[in-house]
Amino acid sequence: MPAKSAFVPVKRISKSEFKDKEKPAQIRGSNIVAAKAVADAIKTSLGPRGMDKMIQDGKGEVTITNDGATILKQMKVLHPAAKMLVELSQAQDAEAGDGTTSVVILAGAMLETSQKLLTKGFHPAAISDSLLHFASKAVEVLESMAIPVDLTDNASLLKSANTALNSKVVHEHSGMLAPMAVDAVLKIVDPNKDQNVDLKDIHIIKKLGETVEDSQLVDGIVFTQKSQGVGGPSKVEKAKIGLIQFCISPPKTDMDNTVLIRDYAAMDRVLREERQYILNITKKIKAAGCNALLIQKSILRDAVSDLGLHLLAKQKIMVVKDIEREDIEFVCKTLGCRPIASLDHFTPEALGTAELAEEFQAGDSKYVKITGVQNPGRTVSILLRGSNRQVLEEADRSLHDALCVIRCLVKKRFLIPGGGAPEAELSVKLTQYSHTMKGMDAYCFRAFAESLEVIPGILSENAGLSPISTVTELRNRHARGETHAGINVRKGSISNIIDENVLQPLLVSTSAVTLSAECVRSILKIDDIVNVIR
Ligand code: ADP
Ligand code: MG
Repeated sequence: MPAKSAFVPVKRISKSEFKDKEKPAQIRGSNIVAAKAVADAIKTSLGPRGMDKMIQDGKGEVTITNDGATILKQMKVLHPAAKMLVELSQAQDAEAGDGTTSVVILAGAMLETSQKLLTKGFHPAAISDSLLHFASKAVEVLESMAIPVDLTDNASLLKSANTALNSKVVHEHSGMLAPMAVDAVLKIVDPNKDQNVDLKDIHIIKKLGETVEDSQLVDGIVFTQKSQGVGGPSKVEKAKIGLIQFCISPPKTDMDNTVLIRDYAAMDRVLREERQYILNITKKIKAAGCNALLIQKSILRDAVSDLGLHLLAKQKIMVVKDIEREDIEFVCKTLGCRPIASLDHFTPEALGTAELAEEFQAGDSKYVKITGVQNPGRTVSILLRGSNRQVLEEADRSLHDALCVIRCLVKKRFLIPGGGAPEAELSVKLTQYSHTMKGMDAYCFRAFAESLEVIPGILSENAGLSPISTVTELRNRHARGETHAGINVRKGSISNIIDENVLQPLLVSTSAVTLSAECVRSILKIDDIVNVIR
């Protein structure tokens, strides 16, 4: 009998499996469905009458927010295409800071339109090309309706900050937060020179307690830490401030070692030595004229020992320790001092001068404020207050949006009306433009132009108006040339939205259109998902 073959016959892969035309379409379909689900999840948050979301994370921490980027960041999105929309929102956050909900909703609408075009037999690459053309044309239309704004025009800046804050949980405080955002940005930019704002120069310090109304813009610096040392001063006038990066504690050897002390005299000697060592440091600090000392956090050993604190307190030097490494640059810039890396460099020239350094009580914690800095750099600090953690966090995020809006105006000094006006205008103008085009491109163009009406539609739906009749009227008025007609959410009608002071930076809308089109184009071009098993 012949031996049984050791080979197991390999299953033949049929040719049809390679030619499976269904699969790319299925993958594309499932990507679109997943991404659209993300857009649908946040659409109720759009606009001043939009709802907020309460998000609970794994640890049971609760976040209440209206900000699209924050909602999506906290959502555990699994589908890779849905993740692209989350990243889209983050991209808009980085680029413009506001419009993070709108951008995702726009992408959702464009995806829906693409899906319809795909079922009609359009090739994904053709749709993608058309979308590229569409986005560049949309930016042109937006630019043509923009109103130039000057950074000295405080009223317009305030209006745009107000629009950004309108839709937030903390909107009732916009009367206070909007001017704060405008003042903060104007303080750190040179309107004639700067084309961008580094928001790192605006420090937001959150302290629980009181209400958002009690927040303040501090011309100086605020430390969330309390001042250290028992019996040390908690208020220093005419402060000479030193920022040290070395430690005021007994030095350690590089290797782990043990010192064995056998008799009391030796022990006494060690203690005396330590005291002498630390006393020497504190005396030198005092000799340089320093009366307020900031100490950088150290990971190697105690940045300042108890003995050090005691001796500094005795010399009437105020101490704030645990200054984070990444804050050093900001502190130096604000106080006009130099970071001091070793005791030898502790000279009077390295110190900063300020009128007052004082410790304050906030709820059950304390903070230190330094004001009246002699050579201040272009920085500001904002002390945010809030009665509970959720409100405080949301106030922080909202203020960030308002700051970003003003930053957009520094980058690109144009405003456009809000309230669905830009999207309605785009839709009308681009539909008109599509009539001048030929063939498939014209068809795609018109379909995408229509899809932009999703923003006014959702704005009106969230405001409790009928989306169909509102959007129809809006469309008609824009077709009649009323470029500034928008949804007046408060009165529930359509009116000149500029009269309602709803203005937003051009950059928010242009970046929303270009980024969402880019994201949709990349989703369209995907025809397979490959999972790598690790
Ligand atoms: P996003 O995260 O996209 O900024 P928002 O919830 O802030 O979302 O809503 C922004 C939209 O709300 C914009 O289209 C803006 O024009 C509109 N909007 C803001 N304030 C008003 C208002 N008072 N009346 C009408 N629309 C407004
Ligand atoms: Mg907004």
